[in-house]
Amino acid sequence: MGLPRFTCPKGRDDESSPHLYVANCGPAVGLSYEIIASVFGTYGEVKGVYSADESGTRVIVSFQEKGSAQCALKELNGKPCSSLGGRSLHIQYSVQSLNKINSTESVPVATSASDLNIPGLFLIQDFITAKEEEELLSAVDCGPWKHLAKRRVQHYGYEFCYGIRNVNTNQYLGELPDFVSQILERVRSFQTLDGAIDVSLDQLTVNEYPPGVGLSPHIDTHSAFEGSIFSLSLAGPCIMEFRKYTTSTWQGKPTTSGDNEDQISQENLDFVRKSIYLPPRSILLLSGESRYAWHHYIPHHKVDKVKDSLIRRGSRRVSFTLRKVRKGPCRCEFPQYCDSQK
Ligand SMILES: [Zn+2]
Repeated sequence: MGLPRFTCPKGRDDESSPHLYVANCGPAVGLSYEIIASVFGTYGEVKGVYSADESGTRVIVSFQEKGSAQCALKELNGKPCSSLGGRSLHIQYSVQSLNKINSTESVPVATSASDLNIPGLFLIQDFITAKEEEELLSAVDCGPWKHLAKRRVQHYGYEFCYGIRNVNTNQYLGELPDFVSQILERVRSFQTLDGAIDVSLDQLTVNEYPPGVGLSPHIDTHSAFEGSIFSLSLAGPCIMEFRKYTTSTWQGKPTTSGDNEDQISQENLDFVRKSIYLPPRSILLLSGESRYAWHHYIPHHKVDKVKDSLIRRGSRRVSFTLRKVRKGPCRCEFPQYCDSQK
C-alpha cells in the first residue's frame, strides 16, 4: 500500500511513541482526516493522520513530538470532546512498525444487485450507450472542475460542502444542465421498480477519479439529500463495497489494555461487507435501507478482482451522482444513522 503500517504496543504504559492509535474516530463516524488533524493539532504538530485499518473508525495520529502525543492522550482519551460533537475517543500509544494488521481481506464481488441482497439497491447495466457516454464526458470535460486532494469534482444545482458533508441551500446554482436531460428522463423509469422512489432530482455531482483513487466509507448525510441517490459510472470501472456497521462496541466503553491485537480482530466483526462491480455506463440506485443504513466505499485499488478476472481501473472513472436536496429534517426509519434524529 505504501502507507506506514502501525500496530498497538503490548505494554500498556509505553509512553515512548509520538504515534497514537485512536478508536471511535474516522470517516465512517463522520470525522474527516482534516477535522481529526485540526483537533489533535492543538496539542502539537501533527505529521499525519492514517487509517489504522479499513474500518474507517480507527486512525493513527502521528505527532512530530512524543510530548504532544502524551498531552493529547491525557486530554482527549475517554472524555466527550466538544470539537468532535461530544464524541469520546479511545486512545492508546502506538509504535510504528511494518507489522501487518490484515483487515483488508477482500470479499467476493457480485455483478448484480440481486446477488448482494441489500434492500433498496438496484444496478442497471448499459443504462446509456457508448455514444451517450462519450457526449457526457465531453460535456463535463469543458466544465468547471474543482480540485480536491485526490480527485476533481463539479457541482450543479447546489454546491456541496465537503467540510460539513452537506449542501449549502443558499447556494442555488440553477437548474441541472441540458446534457443530463436525457438521463433525468430515463431515471423516471425507476418508479416502475418502486413507486416510493423519488425521481425529481435537483443536484448533480460529477466526480473524476484517477486510477487507484477511491472513496472513504460514508453514508450520504441524511439531512442533505432525500431518499434516492443515483450514480452513473462513466469511462472506467470500479468496485463498490457496502458496509453495515452493527452498534459500535467502542461507543462509551472504556479501553481495556494489554490485548489490543485481539480487540482489533474482534472489532472487524462489527460490520457486514458486500461488494459489487460497477461497469462503465451502468447506473446504481441507492434507496431505502441501502441509502440510509449502509456505508458505501470505493477501495483504493488499481486492479479489482471480479469473479475470476482481474479488472484494471482504467485511466479515469467519472461518476455522475444525481440527488434531491432535502428541505426539512429526515424522518427515515434508521435513526441510528440519521443526523436529523440524533
Ligand atoms: Zn434519516
